[in-house]
Amino acid sequence: MADTLTDTTVAASPAAPAPAVESTPPAAALPPGFAAGELDVFAPTYVFPRLELVSGKGARVTDAAGREYLDFVSGIAVNAFGHAPKGLKRAVAKQLDTLGHVSNLFANAPATALAKALTAATAYDKVFFCNSGTEGIETALKFARAHAVATEREGREFVAFQGSFHGRTGFALSVTYNPPYRAPFEPLVPGVRFGEYNRIDGLNELIDSQVAAVIVEPVQGESGAVAATGKFLTALRARCNAVGATLVFDEVQSGMGRSGRLLAAEHFGVRADVTVLSKAIGAGIPLGAVLVTNKVAASLAPGMHGCTFGGNPVSTTAGLWVLEQVKKPAFLARVRKRARELDKALVGLLAKHPSLKEARGLGLLRAVEVAPNAGFDAPALVAAAREEGLLLIRGGDRAVRLLPPLVVSTQEIEEAATKLDRALTTLEARAAAASTTGETR
Ligand code: PLP
Repeated sequence: MADTLTDTTVAASPAAPAPAVESTPPAAALPPGFAAGELDVFAPTYVFPRLELVSGKGARVTDAAGREYLDFVSGIAVNAFGHAPKGLKRAVAKQLDTLGHVSNLFANAPATALAKALTAATAYDKVFFCNSGTEGIETALKFARAHAVATEREGREFVAFQGSFHGRTGFALSVTYNPPYRAPFEPLVPGVRFGEYNRIDGLNELIDSQVAAVIVEPVQGESGAVAATGKFLTALRARCNAVGATLVFDEVQSGMGRSGRLLAAEHFGVRADVTVLSKAIGAGIPLGAVLVTNKVAASLAPGMHGCTFGGNPVSTTAGLWVLEQVKKPAFLARVRKRARELDKALVGLLAKHPSLKEARGLGLLRAVEVAPNAGFDAPALVAAAREEGLLLIRGGDRAVRLLPPLVVSTQEIEEAATKLDRALTTLEARAAAASTTGETR
């Protein structure tokens, strides 16, 4: 079976872009559970056909062939409460029965309630609602530009970092590092400089008076759970203060409790001027939130930005349901406990399996990196784990991420570690057999 069949995240390889469409096996050759029906109908932006999921409960999902998996992808860090959380269903159904959509021309109580709860929980002053991560980044960078104009800053440029992933739309793609994602769409928004993630030397030159905003992920998700150092984020804050640039934290993946704190930046004690949230904030209902200080908000005026669905009563009802639970200290303490258990399990696998080079991450945003001489690659590990009944997702060139729901249990973590152990053992045995065959040939 092709390793990349379900691997819809293209590797962050600067050198060789993975093709969006690979040679597709004939329908008869497809493994059970794969969606032959989707082959001819979708724009070819993903690797088709994909494993078709039909139902889920908690950390488990079932495919179209009836096979159950432990889901450590969680809709790419979205399903914080796993699949089909009852409370979310109740809250959303009730809201749909009352008022489903009003547009940004009218106020609605759930949006106001969520904005109040978010500002209270994060100590930001104002909120803008949208639908997705990339829209949140567009918004943040537009706000930063508007702030630069309003405060008559000399420059309008942006600083982002190597390994960054901020989304697929214009501004967001312009500050996303991975060259294969960018190349087909150039020219992008001009005036973006990329610095080295976690490198403090040279920040004075990188962030000068021409820079309007610096955007950074406190934990780089798509690059494979690479956490910033506190020193780096502190240095960015200091340099932005020194030159008057806006600091933007992209917490689309790391925020809303995934790190074990409501915002991952809390681990480092550094505050940004703008923080972008999405993914888990709606726990499966599309929602994004851009949190800003009064200083940034003061540069905005009616008509400068908008979003038809932004602040939709149904999605903000979902957001309120999520936030009410995630912000509780006991909930976050539980996430940190599960994170320690997962970390311990992955460090154990690292010690046991020479094919692994590193186990890393923060909270329940974790990854293992496949060693260069393993004899197999990250997509092969994703496929082997799937064969064992565990869904994982790639990150960066050689890493595989583990993103369980925040409500994952100790037993599910142990089960996932056992499945990953088996997948690694199988792949190592296969690689050893292949190299022996190669040697004797
Ligand atoms: N920023 C980060 C850190 C992300 O991980 C992602 C998506 O993976 C995005 C932005 C883009 O979010 P979306 O896919 O919702 O547009």
